[in-house]
Amino acid sequence: MTGCVWDDLVGQTKATGYLRRAATSGAVSHAYLFVGPTGVGKSTAARALACALLCDDGGCGSCPVCRRIRSATHPDLHLFEPEGVAGYVIDQVRDLIRDIGMKPIEARYKVYILRDAGRLQGAAANAFLKTLEEPPGDVLIVLLANDFEDVLATIASRCHVVRFAPVPAGTARALVVERTGASDAEARAALAATDGVIPHAIEFLASPGRRNVRAAIIGTLKRLSVMDAHDVLQAARSLLSEVKAPVEEVRAMRAGELETAREFLSRGAVSEIEKRQKRELTARERDGITEIMSVTESWLRDCLVLAKGAPELVDNADAADATAEVAAGLSVPAALRALQAVRTARERIAYNVSPQLAVEAMLFDIQEVLKCPR
Ligand SMILES: [Zn+2]
Repeated sequence: MTGCVWDDLVGQTKATGYLRRAATSGAVSHAYLFVGPTGVGKSTAARALACALLCDDGGCGSCPVCRRIRSATHPDLHLFEPEGVAGYVIDQVRDLIRDIGMKPIEARYKVYILRDAGRLQGAAANAFLKTLEEPPGDVLIVLLANDFEDVLATIASRCHVVRFAPVPAGTARALVVERTGASDAEARAALAATDGVIPHAIEFLASPGRRNVRAAIIGTLKRLSVMDAHDVLQAARSLLSEVKAPVEEVRAMRAGELETAREFLSRGAVSEIEKRQKRELTARERDGITEIMSVTESWLRDCLVLAKGAPELVDNADAADATAEVAAGLSVPAALRALQAVRTARERIAYNVSPQLAVEAMLFDIQEVLKCPR
């Protein structure tokens, strides 16, 4: 990807215009709260702002600094997300505060991006208030949240709030097509597999491993109604082992970066990058598991829209034959039961049930609906 970093964002002229003006006029605040639904580009905007501050050319998009910020491997860019089931934990916030107090490693600034700021609550939130109000002068903190209402007033009031509008589905598809050269149908399926998050859909299309996982999920769903219990258990096991392949792709990609870092950076900076890569691999595996749910959900939704006679709303055009067959016998309440099974699986995984058990239970529940679709 080349070009100015702000070009990565689409459909956000208001938010990006505001941030660009702040960056070029040197009026960047010390803390921002970016609010908007998943996939609208909050995280991309936070990185663009980091590029604007850290790059000598104000965010050229192509220098080593910009490239490392975009791939989240710059030692002065720090990404945080909740480590506890219920949200951010106090020890994590203490680590964060300690880290904020240290000097930048390479750049003039350090940028902290905290995802899911709505889950910064209670003691963890209280511990952070003072730092959020007055961080050191070389620190920028960007909090990201899907819903403004979820963020504590004490947190929100210490930040400049920037709202991101939802990106229309057609615009998102057009951007994925433009960036990847994929067909409209492929872009649509990729967005469905990644919950509509544009950069994730672009990565998905570039990853043979992730496309294989999707094909395996759809293959399983097509055969599900004629599988016996042993086949279902086997299918769940093989889906979960297949999501590990894309993790290896990321590991291989990052190995080179680590080698370069070892040559040029201090030991502390290298260990920071190692830690970050480890987190990235864990996140990739978790995203892979989420993709099982997202593909399943979008395939079931396709069955539902076909049953309702709206074929233009189908997301997985390549699976249309099997979808049409299922849809022919499917009642709306049955489709909703199957979709509920996916939501339950997502919740179970969020509450630390083993993904294996959650996926098995989901497949059995969907199988029951497909066998008795009225
Ligand atoms: Zn640059």
